Amino acid sequence: MPVARFWRDIPSRYNLYGSRCGSCGKIYFPTRHICPECRRSSIGRMESYRLSGKGKVYSYSVVHEAPPQLAVLKPYVVAIVEMDEGVRVTGQLVDVDAEKIDIGMRVEAVLRKIGDEGPSGVIHYGFKFAPVPD
Ligand SMILES: [Zn+2]
Repeated sequence: MPVARFWRDIPSRYNLYGSRCGSCGKIYFPTRHICPECRRSSIGRMESYRLSGKGKVYSYSVVHEAPPQLAVLKPYVVAIVEMDEGVRVTGQLVDVDAEKIDIGMRVEAVLRKIGDEGPSGVIHYGFKFAPVPD
């Protein structure tokens, strides 16, 4: 990914910004410009909303076959996390053995390296999820 585009994306990559409908209060991730519930009455009333980063494992799977750029990570765990705000976010689960993952386990978003661009030396960071003590 070109560097310029990456830097423009930083707020949502680093901070899990979604949207909140100024009409009904419903929270969305990723960002939406219109609330599917309120439709026209939400136009111009969607506001940026920063998720707490905390949630629980809703579902997960262990990935054994990875695309070449992720081969070094495998096997790795991809989880659907139900955030405390009610939205579901997909992300890699780190710092846990696959056998120790439970549905409903508390996790939080952590900033981790997600890739680099080789010789150019640009390292990309983004959120992943790690377990938190109850
Ligand atoms: Zn709404």
